[in-house]
Amino acid sequence: MQSYLSRNFKVAEIFPAGKTGGIPSKENLHKAGYLVEEILQPSRDAIDKPVNVNSGMRSRKENRRVGGVWNSEHLFKGDSAAVDVDAGQYNPGLFEALKQHVRKIGQLIAYIDVHGEVRFIHVSIATPKHNGEIKIATYEKEKRGRFGRLKRHYATYHGKLVRP
Ligand SMILES: [Zn+2]
Repeated sequence: MQSYLSRNFKVAEIFPAGKTGGIPSKENLHKAGYLVEEILQPSRDAIDKPVNVNSGMRSRKENRRVGGVWNSEHLFKGDSAAVDVDAGQYNPGLFEALKQHVRKIGQLIAYIDVHGEVRFIHVSIATPKHNGEIKIATYEKEKRGRFGRLKRHYATYHGKLVRP
C-alpha cells in the first residue's frame, strides 16, 4: 500500500527509494508533511491539476549527481526541506498558487530555461535562514562531468516569469 503525506502526495514522491540515503527520519517526515499539507496540496487544489514532484529529498550523492548546490535544502539538513515540481505549459497557474503561501515558504524559485520556458519550481519551507524569498533563476546545462552541471543565474522576481 502506498502511504500518503496528503490527499495527492505520496511519501515516496518526496522520499524516492534509493535517492535519499535510507528510510526517512521522523523529523524529515514531519518537515515534508508540513511542506505538502501547508503549501503543495493547497496549491494543487487551487489549480485543480496534478503536480508532479520531480525531485524531493536527496542524499549527498544524489545531490551531486543532479548538480545541486553543496548546501541544497533538498538535503533536509537542520530545519530545511525542499522539493522541485514540474512547471511550464502544463501548470501555468502553479507559481501563482504557490506564491499565496509565501509566509510559509523559505524560497520559491522558478527555473527558466534557454527558451524562456518555466521548467520547474523549487519550493522550500521557511527556516531562520530563508523566509519568503521569491526568485527566478535561469539555467543551462554545462557539459562538464558525466551528468553535466546546472549553471544558474538568480534574479529577483518582479512579478513576471521572464528570463532576466
Ligand atoms: Zn530544488
